[in-house]
Amino acid sequence: PRLANQIAAGEVVERPASVVKELVENALDAGAGRVDIEIEQGGVKLIRVRDDGSGIAEADLPLALSRHATSKILTLDDLEAVGTLGFRGEALASISSVSRLSLTSRTEAQEAASRVEVEGRDMDAKISPAAHPVGTTVEVRDLFFNTPARRKFLRTEKTEFNHVEECIRRQALSRFDAGFTLRHNQRVVQSLRPAESPLDKERRISSLCGQQFIDNAVVIDAEASGLRLWGWVALPTFSRSQADLQYFFVNGRVIRDKLVAHAVRQAYRDVLYNNRHPAFVLYLEVDPATVDVNVHPTKHEVRFRDGRLVHDFIFRTLHRALADVRP
Ligand code: ADP
Ligand code: MG
Repeated sequence: PRLANQIAAGEVVERPASVVKELVENALDAGAGRVDIEIEQGGVKLIRVRDDGSGIAEADLPLALSRHATSKILTLDDLEAVGTLGFRGEALASISSVSRLSLTSRTEAQEAASRVEVEGRDMDAKISPAAHPVGTTVEVRDLFFNTPARRKFLRTEKTEFNHVEECIRRQALSRFDAGFTLRHNQRVVQSLRPAESPLDKERRISSLCGQQFIDNAVVIDAEASGLRLWGWVALPTFSRSQADLQYFFVNGRVIRDKLVAHAVRQAYRDVLYNNRHPAFVLYLEVDPATVDVNVHPTKHEVRFRDGRLVHDFIFRTLHRALADVRP
């Protein structure tokens, strides 16, 4: 099973940012109100994610690392099948097979915390008592220490950290109700308190996307036919230094979709006669029954039941909002 994990890990644990994504998602899944992320050397040396979520009961600790780590994969030919299964239930198992991982956790019901440690393909998970408040800390050290080929594909520390930052930006944009801190080499890079009021939300957007963006953005908020669209679209006066500032969330999940991109761009062009790619942070809320966001677990694809309705709603909403502020 460890070999299987290592193969599966290659599929999805591409770089430190992929580890960060899985760990932060787990923390948020556990109901965390705050998530602290510490990174050293772009994540290659250390990734530590600490949360105040539900924790994992001591008896379940080894299970968390091995769950779904079936011996499904017997040959390399089965790799294809693993790819289609995605990463569900295999994140920790896969990450632990290509790093030195420790999991420290405590539930409300426990007096004390416990820690489990695994290293690469080493099968025996050692469990020991530890000190930790209710919640979980996952530490991933020396990523790819036992897979030199994979390690070779890593870019510079700065590039890898940029990917981590981008991953945290997306998570923080999608969960205003949670607080986040991000440290790199002991330096605080991002510190975000839970954002409840509209002003708090703007502050978070400003921290993540820049004050320039907020200063030049039109606020969007509209509802029709069971759809709601809210967020910010920047006017052409916003001069961007970053490459792409385009975030679209459907029911809290970041997606990339041609239909959505087309609707946004079309409205922008029609009203402002501007051909640039607009910068935006937008949230679409729809009845979950009318959308399939699970087309592929890592590709952020989406399939709407009524694409035409969604497209027209986005187009009309933005058209109206932009026309209102047109000079
Ligand atoms: P998945 O998230 O798809 O279930 P993972 O390998 O990411 O698979 O995690 C395995 C299990 O470990 C989770 O289902 C959860 O029960 C537990 N777990 C992992 N991280 C945390 C965490 N931060 N807090 C509480 N439970 C966690
Ligand atoms: Mg997970």
